[in-house]
Amino acid sequence: KRRALVAGNWKMNGSRDSNASLVHDIVFEIKRFPDIDVLVCPPAPYLDATGRQLEGSAIQLGGQNLSEQEKPGAFTGEIHGGMLRDVGCAYVIVGHSERRALYGESDRLVADKFSAALTSGLIPILCIGETLQEREQGQTEAVLARQMKAVLDGSGIQAFKQAVVAYEPVWAIGTGKTATPEQAQDAHAFIRGQLAAADAKIANSTRILYGGSVKAENAESLFNCPDVDGGLIGGASLKAGEFVAICAAAQ
Ligand code: 13P
Repeated sequence: KRRALVAGNWKMNGSRDSNASLVHDIVFEIKRFPDIDVLVCPPAPYLDATGRQLEGSAIQLGGQNLSEQEKPGAFTGEIHGGMLRDVGCAYVIVGHSERRALYGESDRLVADKFSAALTSGLIPILCIGETLQEREQGQTEAVLARQMKAVLDGSGIQAFKQAVVAYEPVWAIGTGKTATPEQAQDAHAFIRGQLAAADAKIANSTRILYGGSVKAENAESLFNCPDVDGGLIGGASLKAGEFVAICAAAQ
């Protein structure tokens, strides 16, 4: 069985004070869950301070985005993967649907960011997922296949030894509408099949997280699906009690 990962994506939320109290409230509780990996992804300005606060705990640090540029240089406003490593990140989220939809990130750019993350020694969490319209038009699998193919073409199947996939149906993000366990399992099995077509062994060991309105009350039924290996948690990761309860469901 794959080791579960529960990742909190704080998105563009928080402050020095609120982050410090959130971390304070989860650090001790998380010790109860030695059999899972736990990750928090604060906004970039807070990575360094949060990383310092997490020192000595089992909770890992991740970025929410990175530059596709292979080398640092004159790219105003961008963040190189090496800088994320420098402040203690082990992971980075790549291709979140908010970045694809609101900031125009194409499959190609996402593939380049995925590759840049690996070059910097970060574990990319590749986010993929269909919109409501795509689901209603029966295009879910075609969209997932296209989003996976861009990255497989760019980095190859071997890259998935060091990568995580997150299935995040866009219609479930921040809407309070969660995919049913059946919908999640179907999508996850399809994604694993895309990987297995290239290498069955790697497909079997790659973690595929579910994201989209995960809460304490629905986490267990989602995490019990055979191909769901944890979660990428937005809103509920900002509440210590909820986040800890979601980790408990993954344990
Ligand atoms: P919510 O949990 O707020 O729906 O967000 C999910 C998500 O986008 C995590 O990356």
